[in-house]
Amino acid sequence: MGAIIPIQENIFCEPCKDCGARPIIEQIKGAFTVRCPNDKTHYKTKLGLVNIEDWNLKNKTYPPLGNTKNPQKAS
Ligand SMILES: [Zn+2]
Repeated sequence: MGAIIPIQENIFCEPCKDCGARPIIEQIKGAFTVRCPNDKTHYKTKLGLVNIEDWNLKNKTYPPLGNTKNPQKAS
């Protein structure tokens, strides 16, 4: 279990896509991960530098651009 570091309020963070919580930073032996405070199984970034950008990317609620799962048929 590492040390929990709150993310400053002036830094924009997407809420956890599973439960809507604001993420926190956990420090483990000099490395950092951005993760959900409620559940370890929710998304967390790779241990290393603080990567809020990666967290934001993975917790956006809409699919990334270029997703052609539902192509529109011409009628
Ligand atoms: Zn969560």
